[in-house]
Amino acid sequence: MSDGTPGVFPSIMTATFADETTQPFWDAAAEDRLVAPRCSGCGTFHLPPVPICFACRGTQTEWVELPGTGSVYSFTVVRHPLSPDLSSSVPYATGIIELDGTQGAGARMIANIIDCDVEAIDIGDRVEIVFEHLDEISVPRFRPASS
Ligand SMILES: [Zn+2]
Repeated sequence: MSDGTPGVFPSIMTATFADETTQPFWDAAAEDRLVAPRCSGCGTFHLPPVPICFACRGTQTEWVELPGTGSVYSFTVVRHPLSPDLSSSVPYATGIIELDGTQGAGARMIANIIDCDVEAIDIGDRVEIVFEHLDEISVPRFRPASS
């Protein structure tokens, strides 16, 4: 996957950085694992991480490995490139993925949905995570689940 691949969110738009609150996520991503922070006090997931639990005001967090599968909660199809040099990437789909293993606690991720016909994506579709390993970051994306 690289810039200019139809259906793939351009890597130029994935520039980000890790800090002490997000480093565990990126370390796991480099190993093709999905982890999410969970409040040690009440079990609520916080994705992205937050310093204080919005449910119980706890400040202790534990990182939990998730299966990397989920369902499409919502999505949009981007048809207009943000700049002319990204015209070969459209159309691509960006979805909100409800993650398995979070007990319906609202742990959802926004990510590119790849390896599919964007016109055929539907709410509730089963997907699985796949990481694109770039020089300094591993970008999480989702594709239709294999099973
Ligand atoms: Zn809590």
